[in-house]
Amino acid sequence: MRVLITGVAGFIGSHLCERFLQEGMQVVGMDNFLTGSPQNIAHLFGDRNFHFIHYNVVNYIYIDGPVDVIVHLACPASPADYMAHPIHTMKVDSLGTLNTLGLAKLKKARYVFASSSEVYGHAQVHPQREDYWGYVNPVGPRSVYQEAKRFSEALCMAYHREHGLDVRIARIFNTYGPRMRREDGRVMPSFISRALRGEPLPVHGDGTQTRSFCHIEDLVEGLFKLSLQEGLAGEVVNLGNPEEISIKELALEIIRLTNSGSTLEFLPPRPEDPPRRCPDVEKAKKLLGWSPRVGLKEGLKDTVEWFKRL
Ligand code: NAD
Ligand code: UDP
Repeated sequence: MRVLITGVAGFIGSHLCERFLQEGMQVVGMDNFLTGSPQNIAHLFGDRNFHFIHYNVVNYIYIDGPVDVIVHLACPASPADYMAHPIHTMKVDSLGTLNTLGLAKLKKARYVFASSSEVYGHAQVHPQREDYWGYVNPVGPRSVYQEAKRFSEALCMAYHREHGLDVRIARIFNTYGPRMRREDGRVMPSFISRALRGEPLPVHGDGTQTRSFCHIEDLVEGLFKLSLQEGLAGEVVNLGNPEEISIKELALEIIRLTNSGSTLEFLPPRPEDPPRRCPDVEKAKKLLGWSPRVGLKEGLKDTVEWFKRL
């Protein structure tokens, strides 16, 4: 089995790559290091089943030899990153998706797309199920990411319907764990690194907005199953942990877990910050036999250790 992972040097890509290599599969990893780091994959270079190509997937892609599965993860994922690179974000989840889908068609490979809970936007239903169509402002500040993910999903389904390609769409909810960048702007690195330094934790808005955090170990297992299980062509599956928590409560939990003397600093809300987000994961349970196992308190332990070591 030979797998192509785009965005392999990123947070999720590097962990997923390890999972395939563990099973003795071959992985070709592509990345341009826009938001990822060579350090995330440096330890894999000694593995003869791992081959890395430094490449921008916005350009036409060709690789030699067979490819059985393509997992398209390349894309800035943190709101700070995608707002800093708005056009790149739109290119990598349009042209990059098109190029990788074209390669999948050529190689007769299965295709897994890393979509996001952001396709649900300011969700009007709660929790979010896969059959909810979302509520997205097409010209809002987050639209570069949301609309690119929605376009990519539509493109995947077009390849499935027109060419019979075996595509699967993972709608990933907030994921955390080791290898997140300290300054990537996401809430976990922001809160944990400040708590460890005893600095105030910046809470945007009144902190009542919620998120549901999935540990990387669980997410990788879900993506791994979605990539390998037979009979899932055209399926869209939420992957996340339904344990919902407010951002204020998260801040207090992190202060407790790190024995920190930090306080909370309330800042103006981020524009169009989704007020509630929580996945319904019944479909993943039914189709993949998957559900998250790592609770927030437990999952925060190795994440805090990671930020201590940085
Ligand atoms: P990340 O920023 O750590 O990783 C993305 C990787 O893609 C980086 O290594 C980056 O250098 C690479 N990349 C970006 N543009 C590229 C290009 N043009 N060519 C080649 N490589 C390129 O982000 P992540 O958290 O690992 O997210 C991975 C995927 O999962 C993204 O598609 C993201 O939208 C999706 N996702 C993540 C989360 C989450 O909570 N982490 C939630 C929803 C969806
Ligand atoms: N957030 C915060 N302080 C920070 C970073 C984020 O209060 O330093 C809040 C943010 O406003 C949002 C939530 O935490 O409500 C999650 O933000 P993140 O950037 O991690 O990802 P999002 O889920 O918004 O894509």
